[in-house]
Amino acid sequence: MKCWENNIKKVSPYVPGEQPKGKDIIKLNTNENPYPPAEGVMKILKGYNADNLRLYPDPSSEELIISLAQRYGVKPSQIFVGVGSDDVISMAFMTFFNSDKPIIFPDITYSFYDVWAEVYDIPYQTKPLDSCFRINESDYFCENGGVIFPNPNAPTGVFESLDKIEKIVKANSDVIVIIDEAYIDFGGESCIPLLNKYDNLLVVQTFSKSRSLAGARIGFAIGNEKLIKYLNDVKFSVNSYTMNSLTQRIGAEAVRDEIYFKETVNKIINTRENAKVKLKELGFIFPDSKSNFIFACHSSKYAGIIFEELKKRNIYVRYWNKPRIDNYLRITIGTDKEMDKLFQALECILKSE
Ligand code: PMP
Repeated sequence: MKCWENNIKKVSPYVPGEQPKGKDIIKLNTNENPYPPAEGVMKILKGYNADNLRLYPDPSSEELIISLAQRYGVKPSQIFVGVGSDDVISMAFMTFFNSDKPIIFPDITYSFYDVWAEVYDIPYQTKPLDSCFRINESDYFCENGGVIFPNPNAPTGVFESLDKIEKIVKANSDVIVIIDEAYIDFGGESCIPLLNKYDNLLVVQTFSKSRSLAGARIGFAIGNEKLIKYLNDVKFSVNSYTMNSLTQRIGAEAVRDEIYFKETVNKIINTRENAKVKLKELGFIFPDSKSNFIFACHSSKYAGIIFEELKKRNIYVRYWNKPRIDNYLRITIGTDKEMDKLFQALECILKSE
């Protein structure tokens, strides 16, 4: 090993789901929305004057922040936006998790949390979910340097009640508690109202799932003004122009189209509920999901084999060869047509020896 290698940060990076390039692929592996973005977004893209790109974007993302503030009934100074919620959460780790005590999160959860902890040298501890993939709230009543988990959790889809969230936020008044609500719009109840009672709570959401804009990369956090100011101070110390001007415009437009948002979210919820019935008929078991995916295990066929067989048929779902979840598939909810093709393929795979 060369001497200079001693001073290099070595991390095991987060591994995103595959983005296969071929044609006729049914892509149910990265929780994207199967429906296009709102009509107004399309109009902006078609009429965009490329000359605007000569100029730096608004570093404060004002138009987007104002539209979010109106939609969520908070002050603009309570909102922070970033390049996807990954960027927002990464900034939040940097800003809020600076204690020598470990931050805590569930053992089965979004697999980026331990990566950020490693990259920023933040000590962390995981708390085991119970056998039904539920959080045991008392695990979080201990000394720690901060708390983070998604609600609904990923990759399980399990939603925890606001009552449980409140107990955890209340018991951790000395640290920041981040609730990652990437999937909240698919039937969960947001903990944004708790912000009126707790100044240590930060709620993070994304445009990647319910607003069909994963490729645009927009995420945001809502919290009290002081937390948002601290986040902005760190952001402006790293890169002032994180979000490009076109993305700011389409993001603001997407938020304004509440009717389309509700329509697509409801379509996905209906498809998910039908998928639950169908998957049960096929012999799958899964915790109840309030997200745009189902985390399912088959009673007799190993998940790794089903995953490979589906891939051979151009159907991509997500599989992790990790302790406790290596017999599960995370299946994103697609259109009804895509789901029918998935069920046909599963029937075929499950029949074969
Ligand atoms: N949180 C959770 C729980 C997720 O599953 C994802 C999607 N990978 C994200 C955050 C990040 O989403 P994005 O950066 O696209 O907003």
